[in-house]
Order: sequence, then structure tokens, then C-alpha cells
Amino acid sequence: MSIEAVRKWYPKALTSIDTVNRLLDTIEKHIGLKPNQLMHADSMCCDDVNAIQYPPRAYEMLGPFHLGGLDGFPFAGITGMNAFAHHVPEDGAVVIFYAPHIGITKDGTIGEIGRIGQTGNSACCGAAKGALAKLSAGEIVEGNITSLDFQMNTIEQTFLHSKERILNAKNQIFEATEVMYEAIDDRIEVLVKQTAYPCKYVILVGAIFINGDRDMGSFCQYKKFEYIDLESGGRKSLMDEYYE
Ligand SMILES: [Zn+2]
Repeated sequence: MSIEAVRKWYPKALTSIDTVNRLLDTIEKHIGLKPNQLMHADSMCCDDVNAIQYPPRAYEMLGPFHLGGLDGFPFAGITGMNAFAHHVPEDGAVVIFYAPHIGITKDGTIGEIGRIGQTGNSACCGAAKGALAKLSAGEIVEGNITSLDFQMNTIEQTFLHSKERILNAKNQIFEATEVMYEAIDDRIEVLVKQTAYPCKYVILVGAIFINGDRDMGSFCQYKKFEYIDLESGGRKSLMDEYYE
């Protein structure tokens, strides 16, 4: 019953267990690489629920190297990207998984989850909901980025630059998460272009990571699954193969 609540918002969502199974199967079938030839980096929110609901089979890959900070933005930057790039098996690939996250409760409420040991629901992603509340209240100041709250301020600025789109949306936290995905995707593409990888392929997987209530586990809807052949520079999507 819980995946139905998720699919009201994300029609192609799968459980994160199925997601990783399909990811690894697709890579093996179409690129010919096994999990131990893959260096995995993720760019996900540092929220503890993502550690609790992390799909176990992802650990068959090397890593993960964590690029993400609040709501999955790759705050580790060019230094983080370079670091794991130089840990990859030479005949293998790097797999970069990036996703903002969002909670969906059993009854289909979006932007919240019931956490272990708590009776009420709490915000998920808390940072995104916090930035959205400030956006609605008109409290985000253009250009305000402080060292005390750098990551949060970056999310606030991202939302401010899509203010009309978010505030006019049918569901604001859903739309804000789409905006966040696009900001993460843009930044990952820039970072990838600026990094030299001593391996055969770069595999990019962009998604929305969906947290369920404490007994629901997590889900994932892919938005991008592409690989770059570093020798030819060619790029190919594996989305159709992934959903086969
Ligand atoms: Zn979060």
C-alpha cells in the first residue's frame, strides 16, 4: 500500500532496493562492469533518515564518497569530485548518484515523515521546508550567504531565484524539490566537466529520493541515467534499458 502513496506524486518510483538492483543489473548488462569495478559517489542530504534508509546493496560498489550536504547539493565541490575520481579502478567507472529528498507519509502527505520513536510527523527535507517557509514569508534576502549557515543560505538563494514558479505551484514543496533537483543536476554537470577521471566511464544518475514513514523504507524516481565514454566523449542514456 505504501508505494501507491508515493506513486501519486512520483508515478515511476520504485523501492530503493529495486532501484539499486536495476542500476547494477543495467550497468553490468549494457556497460559490462561489475559492482567492484564501480566507484560510487552520492550527493544526498545529510539527514540521518537517509543513512537509516540507505539501500544496502549500494555497498557492493566501492565507496560511497559523500558529495552532498543539505538537500543533496554537492557542497563538497570540485575538491570532493576530484578526490574520489582518483580512487576509481582503472578499468572501471565512477557512478555519481545525486538526488534531493522528500518525505511522503503512508496517507500520502508530502514533505513529512513519521520517524522512529516519534509520534508526530516531522519535516523532510527539513532544510527545503525551512527555506520554503522563508520564501513564502518574503524573508530571503538576495545575495545573503553567510559562513555560519552557508548550505542553508545556498538553498534559500536557489529558491529565491525560482520564487514565482515555487509559490504559484499546485504543491509548493513538490515544486521546490524539482527546482532543487535542477540546481543539483546543473552543478553536477559543471563539476564533471572540470574533473579528469582515470577510468573508462562516468555514469550519472539523477533522481528524487523519497523517504517513507519509519516502517515504509525509501523509494526513488530516476530523472537521468546516462554514461559518458571517456575515450570517445560519447554520451548515452540508459533510461529505457533501466525501465525495461
Ligand atoms: Zn534533507
